[in-house]
Amino acid sequence: MRCAGCGGSITATEKFKQVKSTGEIKSYTYYHCSHKVPGYKNCAAPPIPKKELEAQVADIVKSHSIGEEFYKFGMKILATNEGHSAEIRKDVLLKQHKNIEDLEKKSERLLSLLLNDTISEKRYTLHLLPPDLQINQLLI
Ligand SMILES: [Zn+2]
Repeated sequence: MRCAGCGGSITATEKFKQVKSTGEIKSYTYYHCSHKVPGYKNCAAPPIPKKELEAQVADIVKSHSIGEEFYKFGMKILATNEGHSAEIRKDVLLKQHKNIEDLEKKSERLLSLLLNDTISEKRYTLHLLPPDLQINQLLI
């Protein structure tokens, strides 16, 4: 992952805070710019709590995977397709299910690679299939 402000790498810091009322020590993980890009010493990108970052990444994944509406729409078309026999329809439906499962697994794997900093955000995005390609796969 890269900083949107300066393109520098993102790093995580764990901070501890004492809850005044209870005295309990809580840990918070923040992701923030490492400020390692020359000329960008004063990058103003604010730190982001881990939970918020994860929510943002989940949104990206969501926008690249198949929506429920489209899934239902595809099922409807197949169910009313007169050219297919019942057996062929069943095969196609099974294949669709598998495709969707595969795509979901792939998304999850990519997400964990991204969060572990194993791959860059650019590579991550490249590996996700564009939505229209996913549609083509489903309509085979
Ligand atoms: Zn930055």
